[in-house]
Amino acid sequence: MKRIAVLTSGGDAPGMNAAIRAVVRTGIDRGWEVFGIRHGYKGLIESECVPLGLRDVGGIIQQGGTILGSARCPEFKEEASRRKALENLASIGIEGLVVIGGNGSQAGSLELSRMGFPVVGVASTIDNDLYGSDLTIGVDTALNIALEAIDRLKVTASSHHRAFLVEVMGREFGYLALVAGIIGGAEAIVLPEVEIDPEDLADEIRRSYQRGKPHALVVVAEGAAYNAGLLAQYFQRHRDRLGYDLRVTIIGHVQRGGSPGALDRLLATRLAAGATAALERGEFGVLLGLRGSEVKATPLEEVASRRKELDPALLALAKVLAA
Ligand code: ADP
Repeated sequence: MKRIAVLTSGGDAPGMNAAIRAVVRTGIDRGWEVFGIRHGYKGLIESECVPLGLRDVGGIIQQGGTILGSARCPEFKEEASRRKALENLASIGIEGLVVIGGNGSQAGSLELSRMGFPVVGVASTIDNDLYGSDLTIGVDTALNIALEAIDRLKVTASSHHRAFLVEVMGREFGYLALVAGIIGGAEAIVLPEVEIDPEDLADEIRRSYQRGKPHALVVVAEGAAYNAGLLAQYFQRHRDRLGYDLRVTIIGHVQRGGSPGALDRLLATRLAAGATAALERGEFGVLLGLRGSEVKATPLEEVASRRKELDPALLALAKVLAA
């Protein structure tokens, strides 16, 4: 193998740049030339390819987002588009590809791999919903941003005896909300995985009021059947039942934009170094992820066919701690 390429795809995550840097530097250390593909799979189809040298990835480890850009590219689901992408790679003489991204991006990696191209994935998404990695790149930084917002909201909520619905990201997976709720000391957590009756939630908030809590903070996952907007609408009709005045904050994309923390920089660096090592070994069609404290490769076929589940012990703990 002489030439490889790296791309970032799907939702951006703090730590993607640290991963790009590690792919470039460990690739060059192996004697390869490394290219960056701009704008994810869109750039692969349109052949937006730039050589990346050691200095090109200097000063980026602390930057959030991705210097290569990312994009959503629905046409990559069509075989004709992927064939065009492979033709482009062949014309530049690229023999291996590292895809840094989440579930959708790794579904794309799997399709390329099924077409016979050597590809390895790096587990990167703030949602932590990717099977094959206990923790994915960006989760820790996104959690810290959510936590800072929650801490601040609690201060103002206490001053005014308010209840806050705080909506965090996570798509269909409740990990971010569950962990943010536990470490932020939420009175209640609303998740896609657990069916709730808004009536019960209203009672729970009311009980916090009756126990003399100066505020009630509810962390809501964006993918829950009742997201923050719907809950607020529902409670509008029962205002006096809650005890507190109600406010809503949607943290949203603020969660994506931070400078990656220590954990994400290290995780990104380790997973990306694992990816070039896998390419060198000829181990293709795998996702590099963190299992326990080790970097492990999981077949992309397995990643695509399995679903990550929330830890039931964490769910149970969240209930006890909200006392
Ligand atoms: P993420 O990787 O963060 O989960 P998306 O779900 O938006 O983000 O997926 C990113 C991109 O991956 C999509 O825009 C598309 O180009 C590609 N992709 C997603 N699913 C597939 C699939 N089944 N086959 C091929 N490519 C896919």
